[in-house]
Amino acid sequence: MELYRLTAHELRDLIDKKKAAPKEVIQDLFKRIEQTDKKVKALCLFDKKDVLAQCEQLEKAQAKKGRLFGIPVVIKDNICVQGQDTTCSSRILKGFQPPYDATCIQRLKQEGAIILAKANMDEFAFGSSCETSCYGPTHNPWDLKRIPGGSSGGSAAAVAADQTTLALGSDTGGSIRQPAGLCGVVGLKPTYGRVSRYGLIAFASSLDQIGPLTKDVQDAALLMNVISGADPNDSTCVDTPVPDYTQSLLNDVHGLKLGVPKEYFAAGLDTEVKNGVEQALKLFEKLGARVQEISLPHTEYAVADYYIVATAEASSNLARFDGVQYGYRSCGFNDLLQMYRKTRGSGFGEEAKRRIILGTYALSSGYYDAYYLRALKVRRLIKQDFDRAFQKCDAIITPTSPTVAFKIGERIDDPLAMYLSDIYTISVNLAGLPAISIPCGFNRENLPIGLQIIAPPFAEEMLFRLAYSFEQHTQWHKQRPKL
Ligand code: GLN
Repeated sequence: MELYRLTAHELRDLIDKKKAAPKEVIQDLFKRIEQTDKKVKALCLFDKKDVLAQCEQLEKAQAKKGRLFGIPVVIKDNICVQGQDTTCSSRILKGFQPPYDATCIQRLKQEGAIILAKANMDEFAFGSSCETSCYGPTHNPWDLKRIPGGSSGGSAAAVAADQTTLALGSDTGGSIRQPAGLCGVVGLKPTYGRVSRYGLIAFASSLDQIGPLTKDVQDAALLMNVISGADPNDSTCVDTPVPDYTQSLLNDVHGLKLGVPKEYFAAGLDTEVKNGVEQALKLFEKLGARVQEISLPHTEYAVADYYIVATAEASSNLARFDGVQYGYRSCGFNDLLQMYRKTRGSGFGEEAKRRIILGTYALSSGYYDAYYLRALKVRRLIKQDFDRAFQKCDAIITPTSPTVAFKIGERIDDPLAMYLSDIYTISVNLAGLPAISIPCGFNRENLPIGLQIIAPPFAEEMLFRLAYSFEQHTQWHKQRPKL
C-alpha cells in the first residue's frame, strides 16, 4: 500500500486497526521525500534521526493515543519548533534554534503528531512565489518550471507531492490559500484570533494566522480541531469555544446563500480560472444553494492598503533582528552601529529590505497620518463591505488567485505584478475573516485552479460545510501530479 498518499483520517483509521504502524508510514514518506524533493525542494530542514526518535517515543507511549497519533506534519519555517533550526528561510536567522515550541506545535505533539520537516517559504513570508527563500526556490509539483505560490509554498508543495500527510502554513495576505490554490490542495486561513500566534515569528501581527494545508477538507477540520482555541500566551487569541469541526462536514448546502462579488470578476482574471469558478458555482446551485451577485466596493484599495499596513508592522517586527540576540551576525565591524548595518545589510534579502524601507517610511513622523493612519481607515471600510455583504449571504465565493501558477522568474523583478497575485486573498486578512481554498479544476496545461470560500468571523463551520459538500461531488482533490 502507498501509505504516503493517504489522508490523515485514512491513516488514523489504519493505525487504529493496527493495519499500519507510525514507523511504516514514516519510512514510506522518507522514501517518497528522497525520490521527489531533489526536484520539488519543498523542505528546508529534514532530520531523519529526529523523526525516528519521535516515532520510537510515540510507540512506547501507545496507551495515550492522541487525535493525530502517528500522523506526520510538515511545519512552515516561521513556526518555532524547540531545538530545531527555525529561520523564516532567511540568512539573518541562520542557526537560530528556538528554546520553546509554538503553541500549535505543543498541541500537535500532545495529540501524537510527528513533526516531519520544516518547509521552505518566502523570506519572512514576504512573497507569493516561494522564490525569495535563502535556500532557493521551491518548484510546483504540477510543473517544475513553475512557482508553487507563496509564501507557504514549501508546505503546499510538500502536501501536493505526497511528501507529508499534513502541513502548517501561515497567512498574512494569502500565504496559505494562494499556494494551496496553485498546488491543488486544501488551505484554510482561520479567523484572526482563532489560532494562537505564540511561536509564529511575526510578519504583520494584526494580520497573521497559522492554518492547515491538507489533501482534503476532512483533514483540514481534524487539524483545526487540534490547533484552535484560546492561549494565555497570545492575548489576541479569542476565548470562544472551539466546535468539533468534523461535525460540520455535512453534505448539504441546501438553501445557503452564496454571494459572488462583482469586483472580483474584472480585468486581470484569467479566463480558464473564471470558467473553473463559474462551473463550481453551477454545482453549488445544483446542490440547492442560491447564488447572488454582491458588491465589495472598496476592493480596489485592498492591495495598496495591505502594503501600507503589512509593511509598517513588518518594519517594526523585524527591528529585533540586529545580530545581537538571534541567528546570524556579520563579522568585520569596528563599532556597534557598523555591526547592525553589516548584519542587516547582508542578512536580509532584497524583498525584506524593500518592505522594511517601505514600512519605516509609512510610519515616520510627517508621513504617519498621511499613510499609516489613512490605511487603517481604509481597512475599516473594507471590513464594513464584508459586514454589509454578510447581511445578505452566508458565504462569499471567489477565485483564490487571478491566474494559475506562473513560471519561476517571471515576476521576481516586478514587485507590483507579484503583489497583484494576492488581489483576492488580501481583503480577508484586513477584515480578519476565515477563508478556505479548495481545488476546483485544472486549466488546459493541467495546472490546478483554486476556489476561495469566505465566511463571517468564527464561522469556519460554514467553510467546512460548503467545501466538504463540493468535495463530495467532485474529484479534483483526488488528482495527483506525476513526479
Ligand atoms: N503575498 C503576500 C505578501 O507578500 C502575502 C504573504 C503572506 O500571506 N505571508 O505580503
